[in-house]
Amino acid sequence: MESRLAEERGTDHSDDEASGPAPEVTVTGDELTAHATYDKCMALARNTWWTWHPEVINLFRDLDPIRWRQLDHNPIALLREFTPERLALRATEMVLFSRINYAYRRLKEYLAETKTWASTNAGVLGARPVAYFSAEFGLHESIPIYSGGLGVLSGDHIKSASGLAIPLVGIGLFYDQGYFKQHLDSNGYQQEEYFDTKVENLPFEPAVSPAGEPVTIGIETRGGTLLAKVWLLRVGRISLYLLDSNVDGNTPQDRELTSRLYGGDERIRIRQELLLGVGGVKALRALGIRPGVYHLNEGHSAFAPLEVVRARMEDDGLAFDDAMRVVVRQTVFTTHTPVPAGHDRFDATLIEEHLGPLRDQLGITFQQLMGIGRVDPQNDGESFCMTVVGLKMSRYANAVSNLHGHISRRMWALLWPRRREEDIPIGHITNGVHVPSWLAGQMRQLYDRHFAHGWIRRMGEPEVWQAIHTVDPGELWETHNTLKTLLLAFVRRRVSRQCRRRGESDDIVEAARNVLDPNILTIGFGRRFATYKRANLILSDLDRLDRMLNSADRPVQMIFAGKAHPKDEPGKQFIQKIANLRHDPRFARRVVYIEDYDINVCRHMVQGVDVWLNNPRRPLEASGTSGQKVVLNGGLNLSVLDGWWAEAFDGSNGFAIGHGSSHVSDEITDRRDAESLYATLETRVIPTYYARDVDGLPGKWIKMMMSSISTCAWRFSAHRMVMDYTRLSYVPAAGGVSCEMPDP
Ligand SMILES: *Cc1c(COP(=O)(O)O)cnc(C)c1O
Repeated sequence: MESRLAEERGTDHSDDEASGPAPEVTVTGDELTAHATYDKCMALARNTWWTWHPEVINLFRDLDPIRWRQLDHNPIALLREFTPERLALRATEMVLFSRINYAYRRLKEYLAETKTWASTNAGVLGARPVAYFSAEFGLHESIPIYSGGLGVLSGDHIKSASGLAIPLVGIGLFYDQGYFKQHLDSNGYQQEEYFDTKVENLPFEPAVSPAGEPVTIGIETRGGTLLAKVWLLRVGRISLYLLDSNVDGNTPQDRELTSRLYGGDERIRIRQELLLGVGGVKALRALGIRPGVYHLNEGHSAFAPLEVVRARMEDDGLAFDDAMRVVVRQTVFTTHTPVPAGHDRFDATLIEEHLGPLRDQLGITFQQLMGIGRVDPQNDGESFCMTVVGLKMSRYANAVSNLHGHISRRMWALLWPRRREEDIPIGHITNGVHVPSWLAGQMRQLYDRHFAHGWIRRMGEPEVWQAIHTVDPGELWETHNTLKTLLLAFVRRRVSRQCRRRGESDDIVEAARNVLDPNILTIGFGRRFATYKRANLILSDLDRLDRMLNSADRPVQMIFAGKAHPKDEPGKQFIQKIANLRHDPRFARRVVYIEDYDINVCRHMVQGVDVWLNNPRRPLEASGTSGQKVVLNGGLNLSVLDGWWAEAFDGSNGFAIGHGSSHVSDEITDRRDAESLYATLETRVIPTYYARDVDGLPGKWIKMMMSSISTCAWRFSAHRMVMDYTRLSYVPAAGGVSCEMPDP
């Protein structure tokens, strides 16, 4: 009833009424206004559209800044602490009514818009949407269904699909404990904790069939039926459906199947992937959605096309081979992993247990089924590889950067033994980031002042960003330094909290409250502590690092953050070594480690650092995206020429480590890269940062910031990425005009 009220009052004139001074309204009017306002706030909180609108974020924060932070920026949890009356009171105090009404109207208008990029460029997708499958979605820190880069990429993909109005639905899993929360013990060693998420605090609702019934799907296995219910999460114009195995009728073990991301053994993993792929396709059918294109984002969901084949055989009476041909034509696949060990593989027993009944329905032999997941179908020694299924069952496959395309074609050349490497049909679409989600509010305002009106809708186009060169250097520098100050305040808060949690002395907590200096060149390093990312490369010569960090006139400070996978012992030792630098008097004031890297920590870091350090062992970083987030906010990249940076770096827009080559020996590569890292810092980064012109500004540095923004922001935006997917893969797969793959 309350929401109906909100609907009725969500019109233009309610704005004027509600923003007027509350005392003049009658008692009933007061109540009406209170309920309508509350409902509008809830409606805003229940569509993740708010996560990329700073004005709505600020609105929620202004309701109660302290609780907002304590509740992990979760607006539903926050609103549940208010009654409509108390909310109205607070809104009066803070003069929020017109902001609430304005935000609510903007959301409604956005959802109703018909003149969009997709309406002119993706008409062929029409009523048959793209079904985008991913094992994780990183949308916001308060929705913990992601672990890292892959999830954030999927989240950014559907946010941009919403912005461009691509007909697309997302399919994923609901992990009610998500990924682990990290803290370090007093030895600096990583500890992992899992917390139950309260689903009533998430913007989820039960997904319903066309008949209005909540949807439950069942998947037959040799060992019984696996059930799941389906949640709907709204991401702007996009519906994201999440499967959840915690339902009556499942065994206790299966009820926990979807509780954690990447938590279990092989058997849990295959059952999760069965749910995502086969379950996802069944869920779409039950919801009455008939996709025109299936996009498998990474191999986790590669069982999906097999279930689509089964459905086509059942619905259209096709023979297996014919159904395969039809399904392959409408399937596209993205691979993300340049290391052979990173690809999911399952042994024959697990495959037969989980796909046996589906195989019966497809009418194929066990050998045939295994063959789909093998490079050599006849080789009984080969396990079933999800990437191989993805490559064989898609019409268009792509890697996620130019360099990764080369690596992937070489890695999978055996699948096309008669083709030359350059003719292997794996293209590339380089990853990008969702600009409004990663851009600081202050930077957004600066762009709004100087860029063409409506630029944010055209953020994937190069022309838009050229205007950065017309910005006053002092203004850009000042905005950057404001953001840097905010980052340091965040760091101090977090680091002192970490010390308190470990029960350290008041002196130590107090020192943490003053750590780091806003006038010092600040380098950030935030990412998973997978060993190939070499977080400790810069520690390889501690004396040299000491001289650099503690230089009297040109000092440097560093902020580290990142989780190691719970089973990655070497990764945890990297963390320990870095975190324990605080006990070394040479580094105590200059190096900090922030616990529990997540979207929130990442956002603060990429918005405030001067330099973002990225030194993976080439070519193992398929793309990387965190450095793209830094670009938007005026930070500069200092990176190995790997992934996206190998195609972005042009000599004027940041700094390169090494020359884009690796030795066969890791040891030699590491030694060379460390030398190049130190030398680049000493001879290029530090001198440029500290060289001040007569006006006190680092003119050359600011030029580099502008060059970085104008050359990279559009190109590594998720809008550009989704436009590429639409042209190169979705439209052709939906039966539109075929496009050439991008040059390898
Ligand atoms: C952007 C992001 C990543 C991806 O960073 P890489 O550059 O791939 O290391 C990982 N985790 C979080 C929380 C992010 O926001």
